Amino acid sequence: MVKRNDIQDLTRYYKQASADVERWWQTYQPICESNHKKMIKAFQKFKVTQECFSGSTGYGYSDYGRDLLDNIFADVFEAEDALVRTQLVSGTHTLAVCLFGLLRPSERLVSFCGTPYDTMLEVIGLTGNQKGSLLEFGIKYTELSENLSLKERAEKLPADTRLVLIQRSRGYAWRASYSIKQIQEMCQAIRLKRPDVTIMVDNCYGEFTEECEPLTAGADIIAGSLIKNPGGGLAPIGGYIAGRKDLIQEVSYRLTSPGIGREVGAVSGSTNRLLYQGFYLAPHSVGEALKSAVYTASIFSQLGYEVSPGIHDLRSGIVQAIRFHKEDELIDFCQAVQKNSPIDSHVIPLPWDMPGYDDPVIMAAGTFVGGATSELSADAPIRSPYTLYLQGGLSYEYSKLAINEAVQTIITNRNK
Ligand SMILES: *Cc1c(COP(=O)(O)O)cnc(C)c1O
Repeated sequence: MVKRNDIQDLTRYYKQASADVERWWQTYQPICESNHKKMIKAFQKFKVTQECFSGSTGYGYSDYGRDLLDNIFADVFEAEDALVRTQLVSGTHTLAVCLFGLLRPSERLVSFCGTPYDTMLEVIGLTGNQKGSLLEFGIKYTELSENLSLKERAEKLPADTRLVLIQRSRGYAWRASYSIKQIQEMCQAIRLKRPDVTIMVDNCYGEFTEECEPLTAGADIIAGSLIKNPGGGLAPIGGYIAGRKDLIQEVSYRLTSPGIGREVGAVSGSTNRLLYQGFYLAPHSVGEALKSAVYTASIFSQLGYEVSPGIHDLRSGIVQAIRFHKEDELIDFCQAVQKNSPIDSHVIPLPWDMPGYDDPVIMAAGTFVGGATSELSADAPIRSPYTLYLQGGLSYEYSKLAINEAVQTIITNRNK
C-alpha cells in the first residue's frame, strides 16, 4: 500500500531506479552490442546503397530496396528467407497471413502455451462471429496449457497437427515472456515427438531482447510487427515474416495471390528508407525500451506493487506489467503517460471497445507513428486484477520524464 510520505520519498525511489537500470545494463549491454554487430554486418554484406530507398509504384515489380531488405532481415534473424512488407498492416494481420498461408482445411493449429494474444482469438475463431476465421475455413484448434510439462504437451499433440504456435511475449497475460532458451526446449520437445509439424513463433515484442531469435532456437517461422521492436520507431507501417524458404513462399501466396507471391507490392520511396533505418537502429531502441521497463519495475516494486518481470528477471520482451489495486490507478497511469508524450499530449485517453479485444481497453500512445508500441506507450484491458502493460520508449531519458510524472499522479491521487 502507498504510504503518505511516499511523495517525499520519490527522489529516493527515482535514484534507486536509475541505479537498478545501470546495474541491469551490465548484463544487457553485451547483447545489445552483439545485435548491433549483426546488423551492421548484414548492411555491409548486402551492400545497401541510396538506390535501395528509391521505392516503386504500381505493382512494384523488381523493387530492389524491398527485396534487399528481405535479405537483410533474413540474415539478421538467421533465416533462409524473409518477407518485409508495408502491405502487412499490423502484427495481427501478419500472424493471420502466416496461419492462413500455412494451414489447410482439416489440419490443426495447436497453441503450445495456453491462450494466445487477445487479437488472435478472433483470427482463430474462438471469439466473435467466426466469419472469416480459421475455424470457418475448417481448420481445427487445440490449446495446451502452460501448466503441463513440455513432454506432456508434446505427447498430447493430436495426429492431425500441422502447425504449433508459440507466443514469445506475454501479451496481456501475467506470465514471463519465454526466453530463447525456453523456446529451444519447447522446439526440442515438439520435434522429438513430431518432427513433421511446423513450429511458428509469434515474435511480437521479443526482437533484439536477446542475442538471437527463435529461428536459431529451432522454430521454422517467426513473425512480428514493424511498429513494435524491429521498426526502431521509424518504420511507419509494416510487418515481417522470416523462416524456412518453402514456408515463406506459401505465406507469400496468401499475402498477395498464388503464383504472384512476393514479386509485387510497391513501397513508396520515403518508406523504404525508414524501414532500413528503423531496423538498423532497432537494437538500440529496444535497449532504451528495456531500460525504461526496468526503471518502471524498480519504482513500482519499491512502492509495493507487484511487477512482472521483476528487476532481476531475465527479459525476453519489452513489456513491463504492473498490477495496480484499482481501475482508477490504471486510468491515472495511462492519462499521465499520454500527458507527458510529445504527440497528442492534450488528449485524455479513456477506456474503449477496441476491435479484436473482449474487454474495454485504455491506451496511452502519444506517438509519432500511430499506435506504435516501440514508442513509450501503456495499455490495460479494464478487467480485474488491474494489470497495466507498459512498453517502448525510444529514449530512456524521455521515458523517465513520463514515468516519473505518472508515479507522482498515482501517489497524489491515492493520498487524496
Ligand atoms: C502486439 C501483439 C500482437 C498483435 O499485433 P498488433 O500489431 O497489435 O495487431 C500479437 N501477438 C503479440 C504477442 C503481440 O504482442
